Amino acid sequence: MDIEKQHIELECINCHTRVPLDKRVAGCPTCGENILEARYNLNQIVVDVWLEELKQRPRGLWRYFEVLPVEDRANIVSLGEGHTPLIKSKSLAASLGLKHLYIKDERQGPTASFKDRQATVAISALKEMGVDAVVVASTGNVAIAYAAYGARAGIKLWAFFPSLTPGDKMAEAALYGAEVIKITGTYDQTKEIAARFAKRKGLFLDRGIKSVAAIEAMKTMAYEIAEQLGEAAEDGRWRSPDWFIQGVSGGMGPIGVGKGFREMLDFGLVDKLPAMGIVQSAGCAPMVEAFKRGQRIATPVEDPQTIIATLATGNPGRAYELLYDYVAENGGHFVAASDEEAFNATRVAARTEGISVEPATGVTFAGLFKLVQQGMIKPDDVVVVNCSGHTLPVETRILGEHWQRSVDLSQRATEPVLPREGLLSAIEQMETQIRRIVVIEDNVDAARLIKRLLEARGAFEVQLAYEGATGIELIRSAQPDLVITDLMMPDVDGFAVIDTMKADPTLNRIPVVVMTAKELTAREKARLSNQVNLLLQKGSAIDEELIENLVHKLQD
Ligand SMILES: *Cc1c(COP(=O)(O)O)cnc(C)c1O
Ligand SMILES: [Zn+2]
Repeated sequence: MDIEKQHIELECINCHTRVPLDKRVAGCPTCGENILEARYNLNQIVVDVWLEELKQRPRGLWRYFEVLPVEDRANIVSLGEGHTPLIKSKSLAASLGLKHLYIKDERQGPTASFKDRQATVAISALKEMGVDAVVVASTGNVAIAYAAYGARAGIKLWAFFPSLTPGDKMAEAALYGAEVIKITGTYDQTKEIAARFAKRKGLFLDRGIKSVAAIEAMKTMAYEIAEQLGEAAEDGRWRSPDWFIQGVSGGMGPIGVGKGFREMLDFGLVDKLPAMGIVQSAGCAPMVEAFKRGQRIATPVEDPQTIIATLATGNPGRAYELLYDYVAENGGHFVAASDEEAFNATRVAARTEGISVEPATGVTFAGLFKLVQQGMIKPDDVVVVNCSGHTLPVETRILGEHWQRSVDLSQRATEPVLPREGLLSAIEQMETQIRRIVVIEDNVDAARLIKRLLEARGAFEVQLAYEGATGIELIRSAQPDLVITDLMMPDVDGFAVIDTMKADPTLNRIPVVVMTAKELTAREKARLSNQVNLLLQKGSAIDEELIENLVHKLQD
């Protein structure tokens, strides 16, 4: 059963004039402001009934129909989007020292990014208006999602891409039947050309953050997060996280999510708004730069220097003002990450969580690492990361050139004399002298992470001990080629493990690596200096870089 749809109004964010929902209205009739927000007149009784009803409704974005700007369910164009899993991180959380890190896995939607939400709501609204063609400028994901939903609705899409967009993404939009126009220029210039084209042809232009449908679509992420955090809690009550983190280009995601939480606060469904962690690509970070200077207006970046096309909005316009105000009121931070940091974070997320993300989300994770390192995010905070994975068009930048080992047998089959030795020595070269490793680390998740990262390198066999005493026993029984130990452990600590090994003639030749987060005093360093082969300071994240560093040193 549906609750009768309450009438929806649009409210001017500047002078608060309200007008009835009209999807073609372009601005405030009183002051001309072009950003209007949808208002749903749900009173407490309706909210209570609605909450009960939601329990019976199927999963998916349209379960929040009452707070979406489509009047008739018959117009909904859906591919089963929404209700993506909220995955609780273990290894990555442990390596960052966080207790409640969640990944909102937007990869698991019909076109693999959160733009599915925008597409289902915007295309449904267009269908309700009787529009049969739409023009959009996109760095990739919006156009792909619009193309898929447009195909389903019989709405033709004209998709304008800046040339930086990976070819695979443009091809995917074309596959869904979109007209693809590649503009050799920046994303901001592409938007201008698309707008002119729409005007000249009399076609409907998607208005980005000024579109009511887009903001309302993005807010469904907030509703889902609140509901999913509630499901995970004992009392079942909806709740807000402490942080929502996203890599940002135009800012639509966090603006919509912020609106969603504010709306739920008004309905009495949650009791606060999350802080926003807004991450930009360092080569195109107008919001971060303005925020650093304490300015509410951003200076556009004319010539973005990032290969991460998804985040290449040089001129954020009004979106930044809205986000600035949100952060000033509710907390949060703007932070930038370089492309290299993003690729590194992509590898870390993949190897610790089994989650392969697209480079724009690599930026998100890199920003998360920074916010934790800067102490902005506290160990007990509930943190949600918006995670998308739409194709990986910059594979070699993420994995490096030598990410696969290849053995070519096709030649050898015709040359019967050489083969075995050549093949054997090729395989031998892959081995290192060190094979069996014992890791002693009292943080169980960190220990498992080290094991996994080492074993992912290929030839290592890693055994774990979670305290000093069992560590020594394990070393005695396993006779490893290498011991990696933490220093700070209860009871028998790393210093004692090393002392024991060095005093035992059967163990004193085994090389020892100390991996520690502890700041060592001069005395401690002196104590270790003759006993330890390598001392690695771990930062706040045990990551691939650290292990890479370790393995290189072992092979020297
Ligand atoms: C669109 C997109 C962004 C940028 O989102 P905005 O909220 O519009 O700034 C970031 N990451 C991914 C994967 C995207 O598809
Ligand atoms: Zn107004």
